[in-house]
Amino acid sequence: MPQRHYRDLIVTDVFAGLNKYPYWWEAAPRPEETLPELPGEVDVLIVGGGFSGLCTARVLAQAGKSVLVCEAGFTGYGASTRNGGMLGPSFHKLGVKGLTARYGIERTHAILKQSVGFVDFVKELTETEDIDCDFHRSGRFRCASRRSHYEQMARDLEIQIDATGIEAEMIPAARVREEIGSDRFYGGVRYHIDGGLHPGKYHDGLLRVVREAGAQFAPHSEVTRLQRNSNGFRVSTLRGDVTAGQVAICTNGYTRNVTRWFRRRLLPIRSAMIATEPLAPELMQRLMPTRRMYGDSRRVMAYYRPSPDGQRILFGGRAAGHGDRPGKNAQDLRKMMLDVFPELDQTRITHSWSGLVAYTFDHAPHLGEHDGLFYAMGYCGSGVARSSFFGTKLGHKMLGNEEEGRTAFDDLAFETRPLYTGNPWFMPALVRWHRLVDRLGF
Ligand SMILES: Cc1cc2nc3c(=O)[nH]c(=O)nc-3n(C[C@H](O)[C@H](O)[C@H](O)COP(=O)(O)OP(=O)(O)OC[C@H]3O[C@@H](n4cnc5c(N)ncnc54)[C@H](O)[C@@H]3O)c2cc1C
Repeated sequence: MPQRHYRDLIVTDVFAGLNKYPYWWEAAPRPEETLPELPGEVDVLIVGGGFSGLCTARVLAQAGKSVLVCEAGFTGYGASTRNGGMLGPSFHKLGVKGLTARYGIERTHAILKQSVGFVDFVKELTETEDIDCDFHRSGRFRCASRRSHYEQMARDLEIQIDATGIEAEMIPAARVREEIGSDRFYGGVRYHIDGGLHPGKYHDGLLRVVREAGAQFAPHSEVTRLQRNSNGFRVSTLRGDVTAGQVAICTNGYTRNVTRWFRRRLLPIRSAMIATEPLAPELMQRLMPTRRMYGDSRRVMAYYRPSPDGQRILFGGRAAGHGDRPGKNAQDLRKMMLDVFPELDQTRITHSWSGLVAYTFDHAPHLGEHDGLFYAMGYCGSGVARSSFFGTKLGHKMLGNEEEGRTAFDDLAFETRPLYTGNPWFMPALVRWHRLVDRLGF
């Protein structure tokens, strides 16, 4: 038996009893499921039971349509109950340069302006529907991982303020500790509008609202075939066929070959998170004194936040491999976390989980109609607020409410690339390459 250094033993212990499911499922456990008999015919069938699907269903069911939401997995299987619960306009995720080159400054500014409203939109939705999901307008601190990133952030912020009037300011390196207990960063930008929520509770709340409005939710009902007919669509599912007047595709990172046209336009990427054990209040106060949402500017970006009860740190980033590997992801993310917060080197990791997000070739989310199918997807890893807004707008589009359904994102070309089939086999290698570049500091 080879001798192990005592430090290895400590590292092993921090993973003792690791729960390989989302921390969120502790307070919002996945519900007991009964499988309803599927109706033979509905006005609208929605494929995918995450935030996009539920928000679309809410508008349609409240307008009196008969609605069936088909979910391939269990209730809340997809990214919607696995994310960080961070809300914001997500400017840095938008391909602002590309959008400006293609659609001009006016349209790009309209997109940025509309994005600023996403957090208020979620706040109003939770208030209107009485959804208790720990919504909190915390603000966000985006940390600069390099000096050059700080300078770029300052230039980007000028454009953002110019376009939207958003309240935000640069925090220089000397003041970083006002925001975060780390010496790793060269300053950063503080946004006031951003917030956070508990995604498990939010999903539960939306599901309750949708059901109260009369929609049916069918877990374990994967849609396997869509055929157009004179009434709309004949939809085959693993649990029977349904005729639907309209169909909405809300499958984001989990989009399959049944909707090949959409699959070819999305790059599914695995994002992973860990949760620490509860920390001592003084430590929590030192590491996250302002209790904001946090992200940094590494190529393989990390994002972190306090749990809603303020006791733990939840830390996320890209997963390296293809499949769900909670053990390996926990080790990788812990390393990234210690790079930011070395003080956590003896802290136990209690949960590790992952899910799929969907990137697009133009870095913008998309919604609209293609070949008779309505869709909302491609949130590029920032989909909590975006999917809520897009799903709601999609519902109005399907009702024919032109004014209420209009968005600044309408009619953006939804592009693919030659030979791309929807399997980004090159992604794990790309993530490893970006990690190396981050380490080398280019
Ligand atoms: C680890 C992680 C952290 C994240 N953190 C954040 C964050 O902090 N802030 C943020 O804004 N965003 C974050 N995101 C992204 C966000 O979670 C997603 O963008 C958002 O949840 C997308 O919602 P959705 O409803 O479109 O898709 P999903 O919630 O993924 O739902 C799609 C559903 O479609 C179902 N489906 C697929 N094909 C079929 C079929 N043929 N038939 C029936 N059902 C089907 C799937 O089973 C799945 O449940 C994160 C994601 C992950 C994975």
